[in-house]
Amino acid sequence: MPDLSIGHIFLSVIYVNFNFKFYREKKIYKMVLQRNLVRSMIVAERLFEKRKQEVQREKERVKHMEYGTNFSPSGRNRKEKNRIALVCAAVCIFAVLGLVLGMQIWGNSGKTSSVSADVQSRQSSEYTRPNPVSSREEVSEVSAVVPQYSGVIVLDAGHGGEDPGCVVGEVYEKNISMELVALLQKELEARGFSVVLTREKDEYVELSRRAEIANQAQGDLFVSLHCNSFAEDPSVSGFECYYYKSEEGNALAQNIMDAAEAASIEVRSVQMGNYQVLRETNMTAVLVEMGVMTCPEELSSLLDAEYRETLVKAMADGLCAYIDA
Ligand SMILES: [Zn+2]
Repeated sequence: MPDLSIGHIFLSVIYVNFNFKFYREKKIYKMVLQRNLVRSMIVAERLFEKRKQEVQREKERVKHMEYGTNFSPSGRNRKEKNRIALVCAAVCIFAVLGLVLGMQIWGNSGKTSSVSADVQSRQSSEYTRPNPVSSREEVSEVSAVVPQYSGVIVLDAGHGGEDPGCVVGEVYEKNISMELVALLQKELEARGFSVVLTREKDEYVELSRRAEIANQAQGDLFVSLHCNSFAEDPSVSGFECYYYKSEEGNALAQNIMDAAEAASIEVRSVQMGNYQVLRETNMTAVLVEMGVMTCPEELSSLLDAEYRETLVKAMADGLCAYIDA
């Protein structure tokens, strides 16, 4: 190093001190003072490299320390702890949600299967019925399961006012029908039905008006009470039931007839009759000829309180049997 001067040495020492805070290093000053220039230069260079490495290590250490101060003794800092807690909470929430959703799906599938089973059982029971009823009657059928049936039954007392119906001596059909309607109303109301009457007193009501009253009342069943007459043959007697062109009416008539027969009432037959009140009513409708007034024995029965009670109970039983079917 021919160009090496003491000035260079000083400059290099100042450079080293300035950059690396090398003020505690006494060796280089000592060597400079001893004028061992070449050696001092080599030492300065070594020190330079050494300090460079030390500074690099120091930087890394400080960096690591800064990073490390954020860590707990277990090696996890607060931020990471929080993050782990959040992840745990999210996992728990998803697990609970999944469990709840799973239980709900499981519950629904159970419910669906029970409902379909119920529908199936209802369908199978309906298939066994000889006379399937309309959807409206199906509702009645379901309601009939509870003891107090809340359906509306329209009772029609035949004739009235200026129209006496069959007259035998002093006995008028319009009065028998009205009296029997009153008794049947009492019986049906006792069984939990609502009863609507097409007439409540001895008055003339048009046949179309009777059907209109029934339709406005939105009755489930319509029952018109009458008495028959066979003037030519006083031996003809018996309880009859008419329906008009409907399976429902036929079924109701048959149920009433069966109940009358079960109550030891003399019965004739179920027949189809083209009666206006049956034609114009929107519900299951029947017309009952409770007996034949021209048959003296049957007329006395129709006026007898005990027989009337039997008649009324039989008709109510028939209506209930139809509804319960
Ligand atoms: Zn009549």
